[in-house]
Formats: sequence, C-alpha cells, structure tokens
Amino acid sequence: MSEQTSINPATGEVIKSYTEHDEKAVLRMIEQAHATYLQWRRVPLTDRAAALVRIADVIMKNKDAYAEIIALEMGKPLKEGLAEVEKCASAARYFAEKGPAFLADQPLATEYKKSYVTFQPIGIILGVMPWNFPFWQVLRYAYPALLAGNVCLLKHASNTPGCALAIESIFREAGLPEFAFQSLLIPGKRVAEVIAHPHVAAVTLTGSTPAGRSVASVSGHHLKKTVLELGGSDPYLILEDADIEHAIKTCAASRLTNCGQSCVSAKRMIVTQKHLLRFGEGIVQILAAQKNGDPLDSATTYGPMSRADLRDELHDQVQRSIAAGAKLLLGGKNPGGKSAFYPFTVLTDVKKGIPAYTEEMFGPVAVIIPARDDAHALEIANDTEFGLGGAVFSTDLERAETIARDHVESGLCFVNMMVRSDPRFPFGGVKTSGYGRELSAFGLHEFVNIKTIIVA
Ligand code: NAP
Repeated sequence: MSEQTSINPATGEVIKSYTEHDEKAVLRMIEQAHATYLQWRRVPLTDRAAALVRIADVIMKNKDAYAEIIALEMGKPLKEGLAEVEKCASAARYFAEKGPAFLADQPLATEYKKSYVTFQPIGIILGVMPWNFPFWQVLRYAYPALLAGNVCLLKHASNTPGCALAIESIFREAGLPEFAFQSLLIPGKRVAEVIAHPHVAAVTLTGSTPAGRSVASVSGHHLKKTVLELGGSDPYLILEDADIEHAIKTCAASRLTNCGQSCVSAKRMIVTQKHLLRFGEGIVQILAAQKNGDPLDSATTYGPMSRADLRDELHDQVQRSIAAGAKLLLGGKNPGGKSAFYPFTVLTDVKKGIPAYTEEMFGPVAVIIPARDDAHALEIANDTEFGLGGAVFSTDLERAETIARDHVESGLCFVNMMVRSDPRFPFGGVKTSGYGRELSAFGLHEFVNIKTIIVA
C-alpha cells in the first residue's frame, strides 16, 4: 500500500503517514459523490447557502487547530495561518450572502412567452490543489461548487494530507451530506483515472504550469471543462514618479507573505534607474530584519519553506542566476539538512538571460530588475510567459491606471498596492498562468450549466 506522509518542514521529522486510496476505494468514493450529487442538487438554494454559514461557524470554532495543522505540515507561521483560516470563514459568508443572487435565473425580454438563462449544477467537481494556502485554495473552489448544487472531490498536495482530512471534516461537522466533499489521498499521477470517470464533470487545478498542462490534456481528451490557476511571476513596476518608500514597503510585504510561496507575489521588482539604489537598500533593510524560525513561535515572521527538495531547487535557481551575472545583496546560503529553511535572499542587476528574470522563484527570494525608464519597465513586465498578477507604483494615478488596465498582460493588476485575492473580485490569469476564474460571480459561473429556457 502506498502512503502519503506529513513531514514537519521545520524539523524534517515525520508527523504521520496516511494510506493512499487504492483504485477500488476511489471508484467507491466517486459513486458515493455521484449519489450525493443527485440529492444535493435538489436541496433548495437557500438551504445550500445556510450550509455555507454553518461552515463559517465551524471554521471559526476550530481556527486555532487548523492554523496549527497548517504550521506543522507546510511551515506557515501561526499568525499567517490564522489569517488564512479566517479568510476562509469570511468567504463562506460572502458566498452565502451574495451567491443566491448570482445563481438566480436571468430573464431576457424577447418575443417569447418566457425566456431566461438558468444556472444548473453539473455534477462532481474535482479539485487538484497545492500546499501553499492549503485551506484557502481548497475552500475557494468548494464554496461556489457546492452552492451551485455540485459536489466536490479533492486531490490535495501529497505533502498536506492532514489538511485535506481536516477540511473534509469541516463539511461533516457543518451537517452537509456525508459525501458532498471527500478527500482522495492519491498522487498527482493518478489524477487522470479520476478525470476519466464519466461521473466527474469538471476539474479545477491550482498549481504549477506543468501540472496544469497535464490535467488540461487529459481533460481535453475526455472533453471535461477545466479551470487552471497556475504559476506566476508578477511584475511590480516602480515608475519614475513612484512614492519610493511606499513601493519598498509594499514589495517587501508582498514577497514576505507565505515565505515567498504565493502565486501572486512581487516576484519581479522592476525598478526604474532613478530609484534603483534606494530600492535595493530599502528591501534589504526590511528583509534582513525578519525573524526566520519555528512557525509555532509567535516571534517568527517567516518559517521554513514547505519542503526541503523545493528549498534546494530554489537555491539552485539562485546559484544559476548569480553565475549568469545577478548580484547578491542578501542571503543566498543554503543551510541544507532535513529541515526546509532558506534565508531571505535579494538579487539585483537581474537582466534578460538570467534565470531569475524568466523563471518563477517560488520562495523567499526578492528579484530586482533594473529598467532604464517607465517604457522599458513596461516592456520587461510583459517579457514573460506568465500573466497572473501585477502592480504599478506611481503618484500619477490616472497614468498608472491606464498602464494597469491597458498594458500589463495579467489577470489582476493593482495600482500602489500588493495583489491579493478577495472573494468579491475574479481571480485568475492569462498566458501560461492559466485560464478561467475563481471567486466572485465569475468563479461561481465556471462550474454550472448555463442553460437557455424558452417557452413559446
Ligand atoms: P504542483 O507540483 O503543480 O502541485 C499542485 C497540485 O497538482 C498537487 O496536488 C499535485 O499533486 C498535483 N499535480 C502535480 N503534478 C500533476 C500531474 N501531472 N497531474 C495531476 N496533478 C498533478 O505545484 P506546487 O509545487 O504544489 O505549487 C506551486 C505552484 O503552484 C507554483 O507554480 C505557483 O505559482 C502555483 N500556484 C498558483 C496559484 C494560482 O492561484 N494561480 C496558487 C497557488 C500556487 P502531488 O502533490 O501529489 O504531486
């Protein structure tokens, strides 16, 4: 029997091992999910919305325990874990309150007696999710899916099985049907067998671009709808008229979030020549003052990375970047060993041809890319395969807004603030950052049958 193992990244010690679901168990879970779907879709929308409110209550009741599981399994400091969990509760309340209106029939004035668009559920939605926001990523897909009358099968990251099972227990404690949300403990390579099953209607994956390509090709073969939230290398443009101190603080805070392991993060700080020196000094000053340590310790501001192998990969990217001409301003030393710690690292003078210019750096590394002027900064911003988030720093709000709206190639672009997800706004990317949207009414309409009804 294969196993999934939780390893504490702060110590490298095994927390617990879980037996994976074999083929027979997966088939049984799909059948149970399908039978539940046939009943759940008949439950009135108001009752499904009320279930989301109960989910929010359960999350708030157990929030400390969930933050601790997150800290132990993937290294997020308790304070950040609590913020993640509380955001999950408030998003449940948001969808409970607004969702029914998003799902209401939309009448159309036509020559017919009656004509309207209705949003009907489609069945089992498979979620393939990452470890970096192990509660938020899962719940933000599950709420709209369940509210619309679908049911969920989760395939969580193999290093966070404890989170997967804790999330499953939230739905049971909140009184949803037993099989409305189930966690499959299977590795990524077995996702294809689930997608192929006729009862599985659609797939949403949050993760790396290679995983997205693989799921999209299997889903394409079986003609299943997909939403893909993939990697990103968000440009943060520091224009010539930026409030530089504000830009420094915001970029540092963005990079610090989740130990740099966030899909939306200031991964490429594109700084116009005029600000380059002060920007580098300021970023180093803030990041060098952070406390790296045990995520259970309240003094810790960033913990270990989530896995030692990912830490070693990140260090390899740093070393290759330095060898290709990047200048090291801070950190850059791999402590090695079983735990997954990596010190905050700052690279500057990053130019085209250097790995840190093109590759996504998924960890505590700040990458500063010099730009001659504003036009050059924009050119660099779009010189990437990714298109998830982006930010523009400038005191000329009108001009910055035009650049954000019309010129930066991304799914989200904010002016003078860091990019973050918010249930009220659609979230997703363009280019190899994926397609489709999560959150808001746009997310809710991804996994429904948008059905036309005409009564003549
Ligand atoms: P990952 O290796 O792609 O894993 C994500 C999920 O996909 C895991 O459940 C993984 O399962 C599964 N998976 C991996 N390969 C697969 C395959 N060939 N077929 C089916 N499933 C597969 O990504 P990660 O390292 O956990 O996360 C980091 C990446 O995710 C970064 O690129 C980051 O930017 C991106 N991300 C994007 C968003 C967003 O909203 N756009 C949010 C967070 C993270 P196993 O664990 O079993 O391999």
